[in-house]
Order: sequence, then structure tokens, then C-alpha cells
Amino acid sequence: MRGLTMRSDATADVVVVGGGFSGTMAAAQLAGRGLGVVLIEGGGRAGRGTAYSTREAVHLLNVPATKMSAWPDRPDDFVAAGHDPAAFVPRRDFGSYLRSILDKAVADGVELIEGRAVSALRDGDWRVTLADGRCIAARALVLAQGNQPPAPMLAGEGVDPALFVNNPWGSEARAAIERVAASGDDVPILGTGLTMVDTVLSLAAAGHRGRIVALSRRGQVPRAHAPHEPAPLDLDDVPQGNVLALWRWLRARGRAVGWRGAVDALRPHAQPLWRGLSEAEQGRFLRHARPYWDVHRHRIAPQVAEQLRMMIGEGRLEVVAGRIGAVREMPGSLSVEIARRGRPSTALGTNGGRERFSAVFNCTGPLGAMARTQDPLLRQMIDGGLVAVDRLGIGLAVDQASRAGSGVWALGPLTKGEFWEIVAVPDIRGQAASVADDIARELQA
Ligand SMILES: Cc1cc2nc3c(=O)[nH]c(=O)nc-3n(C[C@H](O)[C@H](O)[C@H](O)COP(=O)(O)OP(=O)(O)OC[C@H]3O[C@@H](n4cnc5c(N)ncnc54)[C@H](O)[C@@H]3O)c2cc1C
Repeated sequence: MRGLTMRSDATADVVVVGGGFSGTMAAAQLAGRGLGVVLIEGGGRAGRGTAYSTREAVHLLNVPATKMSAWPDRPDDFVAAGHDPAAFVPRRDFGSYLRSILDKAVADGVELIEGRAVSALRDGDWRVTLADGRCIAARALVLAQGNQPPAPMLAGEGVDPALFVNNPWGSEARAAIERVAASGDDVPILGTGLTMVDTVLSLAAAGHRGRIVALSRRGQVPRAHAPHEPAPLDLDDVPQGNVLALWRWLRARGRAVGWRGAVDALRPHAQPLWRGLSEAEQGRFLRHARPYWDVHRHRIAPQVAEQLRMMIGEGRLEVVAGRIGAVREMPGSLSVEIARRGRPSTALGTNGGRERFSAVFNCTGPLGAMARTQDPLLRQMIDGGLVAVDRLGIGLAVDQASRAGSGVWALGPLTKGEFWEIVAVPDIRGQAASVADDIARELQA
């Protein structure tokens, strides 16, 4: 767009939007290459992001400390900060480690700006505008806004958001957890994945003694880490291009070497395997295989699995395969109908004599359809054709160098349509380094 007359409140070589793991590491990597960087964080979570800003000691990393270095070329960096390599340490400790990386980057010249980016326009340089009207000018733009908050569920439409908690990472969730814990009411949780696990742990830590019913279509819960024999293999040993063939192969391999060894052996090959699938096959994976893949691939700490087992044994946690039906709001409470797989619908809680809940938590995971993002910057850039939604609709379209358009790169979960295996620390840290290389090359040219 020509004719921009906006005054700039800051200028830099690169502006990075989002101060979570992806944005922090991109800023640190870019600064390490001598580039001037402005990092914009709009959620008050600079250097921590969504995953590592939890203050709760019960929220643990879901891999041992030894795998959590923020630097691809220094694999022992997190452990060197004083962590037992085999321990599943609290995520807040990883947040402190990440924040110290950001603090050092700021001391080295990165400018951290607190504010929500709402638009970006390009007139030679990018001009990124914040909600309060400030404007940052830069030659390159990095989008690192992470997973988008869940889309509002149809079942919760029109219901008081303090009762139907749609964003389990928001402040309403925290307030609802404390309220529910104090009341002792039973609680429905929609979703049975890692976010459900976090919410159950938060409820238990807050002293909740009621019953928790976690519901998802298949009722699949993340499996536990356990010692196992590694069973590495070459990419050529794995069937490619067909999800069903790959799935059958994985089951057979799991029987032969143990499922953990079989799943972990695919990890280094996940990106080429994903790229080798046609769009139709990738869609097939998302529809049919993903729920099973996710619970085996993204495992939980053994002590967390043990706590869930105990709660299930004591009748405090029930995991149900089924669907949510009608949600009715009454003054200060809700009734929720669920259809258990293969059984007639029931109003949750009637068996225990209670029909009312003081909250329902939507833990079905981040927004799946990028076209529905409510983030003002992404919205404006997609609507304005500056970036595009990927062909599966789950993130932004990027090329192999993570370029989302001319002079704009994207990182982390925003790029999962292209790379799929790009949501965990070991993958993002490599991506942040290679994007920094690419930007440095382009700006120098
Ligand atoms: C609960 C949870 C636990 C996890 N545990 C592990 C683990 O143990 N090990 C592992 O390897 N991986 C784990 N992951 C995965 C992984 O580490 C994260 O997905 C990763 O940190 C993503 O980082 P990000 O910076 O891309 O996104 P985020 O952490 O979501 O950060 C994005 C940031 O951008 C900001 N932002 C968004 N929009 C704007 C805007 N318009 N303007 C300004 N700022 C904006 C947000 O406030 C936020 O701070 C976990 C993920 C989650 C959600």
C-alpha cells in the first residue's frame, strides 16, 4: 500500500509479533546475528507464552528436562540451568529459563514492547500498528502468535462466559476453577487431551473434591511416558504417501518393538512423512488418525498419569466417549446433557443427585480453522491478502523456509499445515534459528 504517512514510534530491522517460545527465540536468534529487533507481546506473557506462563507447580513439562534446551546447537542448555535431565519439571521453571533468555536478549538490544498488534501494512517497510495506536516500522515481519484460542462452542452459545469457560488458558478459567473448588460441585470438561489434564490437575490442586466428567468423541486420554527401548529406523523403512498403510505399519511395528519405541522412531521423520502425503491424505490423517496419534505422541509425565489413575480409581474422574447435547443456563449454574457412545442421553450429574454445575470447561484444544481467527492482526493480514490460510485450513500457508509472504515469516503452531510436527520445543527452536538465518540473508542482500 502506497502513501502511508504513519509516524513510527520505533524502527527495527525485524519486528516479531508474539513473545512466547517462538517469538522469544526468533528475537534472540535475530539479535545474535546483529539485527535490530522489536518484539511485541500483547498478552502480558513475554518470554513465557501460553504454555509456560502457568504459575502452578502441578503443571509439568511433558518431556524430560534433557529435551528442553531452547538452542538447537546447545542441547544441554536447560539442564545446565540446574535441572535433573530425567525430571519432568514444572512448566513455570521452563518459563523462568525462557524469560532469562529474553532478558539477556533485551540487554543485548532487543526492544520489548507490551501491546497487541492489530494491523500490518507494507510500503517498502512493514508498519505494524498496536491497539493503542503506536506504530513500529521494520524491514521484515515475523508472526509468532502461537495457537489461537478455541472457537466458541455451539453448545455454549449465549451462555454466561463465566459459567461456560471457553478459553481454558484465560483468566475466566482461573476464576472458575477456584469457584468450583470452593463449591465442591461436579464438573464437566469437554475434551480429554492435554488441556483437560491441566484443568483436572488445577482443580485437584485447588482442593476440588467433586466428580469430574471428561468427555470427548473417542474418550482417548494422553498416554504416560515410561522407560522403553529405542527402535530407530530410516525414513526409507516407513511406508510413505498413504495414511492407512502407515497406520497398519505402525501398529505392527508397535507389536514388534513396543508402541513407545515405534512412535518415537517416527518423530525425526515426521516432517518429510507429512510432506509426502497428498492434501487428501493429510485431511484423512486429521480426521481419522490424529486423535490416536496425539495421545501416543504427546505423552504425559508418569507422576501425572499416576494421579489421573488414582482419581479415576477413587471415582473422582470419569472419562467418557460421547458428545455434548443441550446446555441450559439457570441463575448461577448450568445443566449439561451428554450422549454417551451407544447409550441414551442423560443429564450429567443426575446419578449423583446433582443436576447443576457451576462451570463447564471447553478443553477441546486450540482453534482448528485459521479462517476463523479472532486475532486482529492475523484477521487483517488474511483478509488483506498479505498472508494466506494453508490448504488444510489449520494454519498459515508458508514455504519450506517458513515464509508466509513477501518479507513476512511465520513460526511455531501457525505453520503446522506445512510442517505438522512443529508445535514442540525441539522443532520450534530449529525453525527459529533457520528463519533468523533466512531473514539475515535477505536483509543483507
Ligand atoms: C499447555 C501446553 C503445554 C505444553 N508443554 C510442552 C512441553 O512440555 N514440551 C514441549 O516441547 N512443548 C510443549 N508445548 C508446546 C509448545 O512448547 C508450545 O506450543 C510453544 O511454546 C508455542 O509457542 P509460541 O510462541 O508459538 O505460542 P504461544 O506460547 O501461544 O505464544 C504466542 C504469544 O503471542 C502473543 N500474541 C498473540 N497474538 C498477539 C498479537 N496480535 N499481538 C501481540 N502479541 C500477541 C500471546 O500473548 C502469546 O504470548 C505445550 C503447549 C501447551 C499449550
